[in-house]
Amino acid sequence: MIDSTRYIADEIQTLKPSGIRRFFDLAQTMDQVISLGVGEPDFTTPWAVIEASYHSLEKGYTAYTANAGLLELREAISQFLDTYFNVKYDPKEEVLVTVGASQAIDVAFRTLLNPGDEVIVVEPSFVSYVPTIKLAGGVPVIVSTDEAHAFRLQKEDLLRVITPKTKAILLCSPNNPTGALLNKADLADLREVIIEHDLFVVSDEIYADLVYDESYTSIASLADMYERTLLISGFSKAFAMTGWRLGYVCGPKAIIEAMTKIHQYTIMSAPTMAQYGALEAIQHGRADVLMMKESYQQRRNYIVKALNEMGLKCHLPGGAFYVFPSIQSTGLSSEAFAEQLLLSERVAVVPGHVFGDSGEGYIRCSYAASMKQLQEAMARIERFLETLK
Ligand code: PMP
Repeated sequence: MIDSTRYIADEIQTLKPSGIRRFFDLAQTMDQVISLGVGEPDFTTPWAVIEASYHSLEKGYTAYTANAGLLELREAISQFLDTYFNVKYDPKEEVLVTVGASQAIDVAFRTLLNPGDEVIVVEPSFVSYVPTIKLAGGVPVIVSTDEAHAFRLQKEDLLRVITPKTKAILLCSPNNPTGALLNKADLADLREVIIEHDLFVVSDEIYADLVYDESYTSIASLADMYERTLLISGFSKAFAMTGWRLGYVCGPKAIIEAMTKIHQYTIMSAPTMAQYGALEAIQHGRADVLMMKESYQQRRNYIVKALNEMGLKCHLPGGAFYVFPSIQSTGLSSEAFAEQLLLSERVAVVPGHVFGDSGEGYIRCSYAASMKQLQEAMARIERFLETLK
């Protein structure tokens, strides 16, 4: 029998599966696990969205849409971004509806990068950025953030990693896994460097609607940034629609047109029934978003207090639904902490190192779980810490 792996391209052979997966495979074999591991809402999609989607099927809207997505949906996205984030995009030429923000990120890099182009990735970071940059022939260059600055990228750190080959920077605010929010002043600082060095920005704003204490600023809304920014977002998080696989990317016409070429050959169009659901969500789902956001905010306040009280130092994240407490006081590596916690107390969290080297010494806990589950998880973590003393 021949070994089929020899047919696999070298680059894919060396591509590592997501570090999050190992834990979830293990957790799934165990009973009574409380998972603070997954990056998705615990709410189900608002009912009106589900109804709108199945009514679209009843009406027979079962064919492909335009490659860029239903024009009505692109118009609604454009209206939404103008109303809430103060950015204006032409729905006909500057909006592309994608299969989740994930596809938008993938196509963005394939559209922008020539072999060897460097892209700055701010770590700790979402796990898909480095692989998608590499798969597009680019070279990820890491810049770290730290707890001392609440995991907000500092201008001086950014300056240190720019080279003549730097083409773009990927920003994610609010951030997964740290929850850090770049406020208007942070973005204004970064903007200066970005413009001075003629960088392009891929801005993952999927958590923009889940910002708790201050108002949200999109980097695309700052002066002279529109031409050099792709704004990526989607329906997964704020509308609790992860399984619908619907996102979007907005940017200057030439770049959206180029991205649409890849999209039309590889995807054709995002799922039609999901697009009808998304149309309902974005047009009429504001009250649902606000209700979920208020609930996340209460849980965030609870979990940050509980973790700090038990000695796991944790900054108050400005957005998303993650906390990133330090476990350095335990003397364990993040991998050992997560593994021992899962095996002894059946709480699943994600070790910080999977989000990059600067995540070592931390764990990511998602608070998109019920208050009851969070309380039980905190009691279990506290008990676990006692055993380490
Ligand atoms: N960006 C970030 C920062 C995320 O956390 C996620 C989901 N975990 C995504 C993108 C992907 O979202 P989607 O479901 O829209 O593909």
